Amino acid sequence: MDAALPPLTISTLYLVATPIGNLEDITLRALRVLRECDVVAAEDTRHSGQLLKHFGISKPMLSYFQFNEARRSEEIIERLRRGEKVALVTDAGSPGISDPGERVVKAAVAAGFRVEAVTGPCALVAGLTASGLATDEFHFVGFLPHKSGQRRNKLESLRTTAGTLVFYESPYRIEKLLGELNEVYPDRDVVLARELTKRFEEFLRGKPAALLEIAAKRSLKGEFVVLVGGAEPARKKTGSEILP
Ligand code: SAM
Repeated sequence: MDAALPPLTISTLYLVATPIGNLEDITLRALRVLRECDVVAAEDTRHSGQLLKHFGISKPMLSYFQFNEARRSEEIIERLRRGEKVALVTDAGSPGISDPGERVVKAAVAAGFRVEAVTGPCALVAGLTASGLATDEFHFVGFLPHKSGQRRNKLESLRTTAGTLVFYESPYRIEKLLGELNEVYPDRDVVLARELTKRFEEFLRGKPAALLEIAAKRSLKGEFVVLVGGAEPARKKTGSEILP
């Protein structure tokens, strides 16, 4: 271990961000934490096991997804109590954003344990920053509910929300979402950020109707972050607004 780097802290839950597609996006710190922790808690041990193997890391793993709701975080908390350093990873990206990581963090904080974010890839940030839409103000929605009525209500409720709206959506519902956006937000600029950091990454930009036309011509596959521009162009601060 590099003598300049402090050792991991006992009884700490490390939220380790992992690549959302491009394995080069793993950070040096993520690798060190994964190497030096006592156990890796993973959403899917088989999936994350492949990632560890790719980086030549062999570590005990536990699944925090195989248990029922109440027991899900219990084993992790128990290990923290014993002084272990636990690295938590999800299938991809930053644990805690629209994934079961959130529940574990809440349980760890409630039990009084230290939680540290080992920052790195996050689909929300990648999609938003490269979208070309306003980034000075945004609202992260994550996944919409599955039921049509609830989806519609949620979209309606966001009408007056300032800034860019950011959604996660499964490829199975991407056309459905475009149809809904066409009804609720026909005049807004929409960006589909597809397969971020991967070989077939692309950004499809246009009004909902134009994107629906594209979806009708070719099936849209892969993973998506969907971004919807604010109702009004976000006001940028200029020098003239600064009072002497
Ligand atoms: N915690 C992760 C994060 O924030 O990076 C996201 C976990 S969530 C269960 C998975 C969703 O993130 C996908 O359904 C998709 O909407 C989005 N996503 C993940 N990887 C992506 C990628 N490479 N390109 C576009 N969207 C992605």
